[in-house]
Order: sequence, then structure tokens, then C-alpha cells
Amino acid sequence: MDKREFLKTSGALFASTFLPKLTAAQTTSDNRTNWAGNYTYSTKNLDFANTVEDIKRAIHGHSHLKALGARHSFNGIADSTEDQISLKHFDQIDLNTKAKTVTLGAGVTYGQLAPYIDARGFAVHNLASLPHISVVGACATATHGSGSRNGNLSTAVRAMEIVTANGEVAVFSREKLGDKFPGSVVGLGALGVITRITLDVQPAFQMTQMVYENLSFSQLEHHLDDVFASGYSVSIFTDWQNHRATQVWIKRRVDQGSPTDLHADFYGAKAATHNLHPLAGHSAENCTEQMGISGPWYERLPHFRMNFTPSSGAELQSEYFVPRDKGYAAILAVEQLRDQITPHLFISEFRTIAADDLWISPCYQRPSMAIHFTWKPDWPAVKKILPLIEKILAPFGARPHWAKLFTMSPADLTTRYAKMSDYQELLAQFDPNGKFRNKFINSNIYGAKQTSE
Ligand SMILES: Cc1cc2nc3c(=O)[nH]c(=O)nc-3n(C[C@H](O)[C@H](O)[C@H](O)COP(=O)(O)OP(=O)(O)OC[C@H]3O[C@@H](n4cnc5c(N)ncnc54)[C@H](O)[C@@H]3O)c2cc1C
Repeated sequence: MDKREFLKTSGALFASTFLPKLTAAQTTSDNRTNWAGNYTYSTKNLDFANTVEDIKRAIHGHSHLKALGARHSFNGIADSTEDQISLKHFDQIDLNTKAKTVTLGAGVTYGQLAPYIDARGFAVHNLASLPHISVVGACATATHGSGSRNGNLSTAVRAMEIVTANGEVAVFSREKLGDKFPGSVVGLGALGVITRITLDVQPAFQMTQMVYENLSFSQLEHHLDDVFASGYSVSIFTDWQNHRATQVWIKRRVDQGSPTDLHADFYGAKAATHNLHPLAGHSAENCTEQMGISGPWYERLPHFRMNFTPSSGAELQSEYFVPRDKGYAAILAVEQLRDQITPHLFISEFRTIAADDLWISPCYQRPSMAIHFTWKPDWPAVKKILPLIEKILAPFGARPHWAKLFTMSPADLTTRYAKMSDYQELLAQFDPNGKFRNKFINSNIYGAKQTSE
């Protein structure tokens, strides 16, 4: 390719979500890793495309190819043994105020998108815990924030421009693909190289954030839905000890009449008296503003500040989605494993997500509660715990986050996704020779023997 660069080093240090100062992830031209440093990509080849023609040439020139976003997935979902292609130079943003949509290049991150549309009076409906991920990469894996009425970030997708395996540029939208469009949005990077994506936007809004400490799990038995309905986006953190949540983060929209005053008591939990980090004893300086102070949506929805220069990726993550009405029972089930979990854990978080119609979204046709684990970076230990968690959550039909670490068998995955065979057919239609398939897809979608590792 004439406009090809190779990744020399990604010496830039990225944010740790929970630990401000740990050893940086190792990323060199010889040892190319994901953000967390726990996964080494199988190829040294990384192309940087500047034009759609570059992408077409890469597609024609390789039998296997995978688009790479901001490298924040914890498993091999973005891996390739032959070639990866980055679209970070596709950085254009076009806001259509009349249609209430924004169309952006595949290189744009939420951290770039949010201030741009906010300055023009618009917002997206939700954000993940950190802004450094690309919009396209996030939507390809059903990345989510919290909020019982908020679908995951992929539910905002209206259209995608994509270069498919035969090198043609196609537009995927409900109008063009009809009933198959919901199968293409959470596409796991397996349908082609997305060049541009169009999202719904809405008028910008102001939010407040309140944090409460020490909420007994017993309160969740009867008030789980009330607790999650107490804000536009609510996160419950726990270390699984003492049958309680260590913190509850409540993010409210000011335009929905939410009070910004402090209530000292929230189902027995006490209002924090200063900004807190989810991990006890860590400085909150990198966390978004709390204490009921109002501010723009994109400075309250993530837990961590947009302009926080991240310093480490020394953590692992896993997450499982269960039906929301079984949320409390699922919490009690996982709690039984607390003594195995806690020594290897930084923190756990519960979030809610609305049901959607995206075929292989973990929230497909199911209002969900996600149980998240931020692990210490000890994969051998975590690898032993995950099967225990998956077994104990099996009766709830738990679905793992596609971009995080899991050990569930392909057979179990298939039983959790009613539309899995339709998704396989969709991949065969647009990529009959498996150009965009990798080990992760072959294993988890087509059942070849191996796990997410
Ligand atoms: C610290 C941290 C915090 C996180 N917080 C959350 C959270 O709050 N909620 C949550 O749900 N998840 C969270 N995640 C997971 C994260 O959102 C996903 O891993 C997401 O996919 C990362 O996006 P990325 O841009 O890094 O994409 P990558 O990890 O680089 O790629 C992900 C997938 O997108 C595909 N892809 C990327 N670009 C393209 C393209 N142009 N065309 C086609 N396919 C493409 C890749 O092939 C791959 O399949 C977090 C991860 C980290 C490291």
C-alpha cells in the first residue's frame, strides 16, 4: 500500500479506569498488544488507511484482515494473523441538526465526538465508563453505559458505510438491509471495514452526579428496580464483602426535574461528603464531578474525566448480562464466590441496560443487568474463577460481554443467542470466504474449539 505506516510504538499511555499509577502496558513494534497489555496481536502488520481506496487495496491484498479500533478490547476479537487496518485518520464529524443525526469517520472516539456535538447543542443518549474508545469499535461490541431506559451505545446506530469482502462500498441501514440491519450493528468487526457511522443525537442536557456509600444488598431484594430508576444512569459498586455495595453512583438529568440537593440517606446508604473514586483510598481527581454539581452530559455520564491522561492498563475485565428481573438472585449467586473473587478483584459494578433488537447484543430482547468485574492483571488466577462465575450464572442465561474475558464454550454461547444462526448467515452473505473472520469469530460464532482468550 502506498500510504502504509507500521505501528512503531504506541508509547502513549492510556488511562487506567481504576488505578491511577501502575506499570504501563508494553507495546512495541515487536510486541503489539491491546490497551491492557494482556493480549498480543498475532500479526506485526498494522496498516493506517487514509482513504477508502487504501481500504479496498488492503482487502484485495489479503486473505484475512481485521479492522482495529482503539485497542480497548480485552480478548482477541480485533486480532488477525495476517493484517490489521486502523482508520484513525478517518476523523471527520458531520452533524445534521435537522435530521438529528451525526455521521462520523471510523477513527473518531467518544472523547472527540462528545465536546464537538455538545458545543453545537447535541448529545448522544449514553456513554461508557471512559471516552477513549472509538465509536465504531464500541458499537461493534455492544458497549454500554447504564440506565434502565437506555439501550447500549449500538442502539443509537442509524447507518454504517462499510467496505465489504469484495471491495464494494455498501451502506447498511434499516432502509437498505431491512430486517437484517439489526444483525449487522453489533457486527464484531466480521462484516467488513466500517468507514463511517451515523448515530441518532438529541438536544444536549445537563446532569448531576451523587455518590452514596454502603448500601446493604438486602435493600436490593425489594428495591433493585427503584435504585436503578433513581437516576438516568446508575452504577452500583461492590467488593462482594459484607453483603453490601460500597458505592452507588447516581447520574441525573437536570431537565427531567431531578433534584440537585443532597439527600443524606438513600435506602440506608449515606451521601458521600466529598468526591470519591470507585476504589476505596484512591484519589478522585480523575473522576467526573460529583456532589450534585450540575454539568454537561459528557462530563457526568462517564466515571472518568474526558481530559484525564490515562496512565496504565494494568487490569483485566469480564462482564455478564443477566435478565434484570433476576438481578438480585444473580447478585446473591455470585456473592457465594466472594472469597474466591475478592483477592483477585479491583472492583465489581452493576449496571442496567434496556432491551434491544440487535441480534447478538447481550441485551437482545432482554432488559438486562450487567455484573462487571475489574480484575487485577493475573490471568492465570482469573481464568480459574471465570468458569465458576459462568457456572453459577448459567441458570440465569448469562451472556458475556463480547469484548471482555470469558471462558464460556461456543456451545453455551449458541444457546444464549436465538439469532446466532441468522448472524452466521449474514456473515456468509457479506463475507463468504471468511476474510474478516479470525480465531475469536471462528471459535465463538462458528464453534471451533477454543475460548475467548
Ligand atoms: C478501561 C476500559 C473501560 C471500558 N469500559 C466499558 C464500559 O463502560 N462499557 C462497556 O460495555 N465496555 C467497556 N469497555 C470495553 C470496550 O468498550 C470495548 O472493548 C470496545 O469494543 C472498545 O472499542 P475500541 O475502539 O477499542 O475497539 P477494538 O477493541 O480495537 O475493536 C473492537 C471490535 O471493533 C471492530 N472494529 C473496530 N473498528 C472497526 C472498523 N472500522 N470496521 C469494522 N470493525 C471495526 C474490531 O474489529 C473488533 O471486532 C472498556 C474497556 C476498557 C479497556
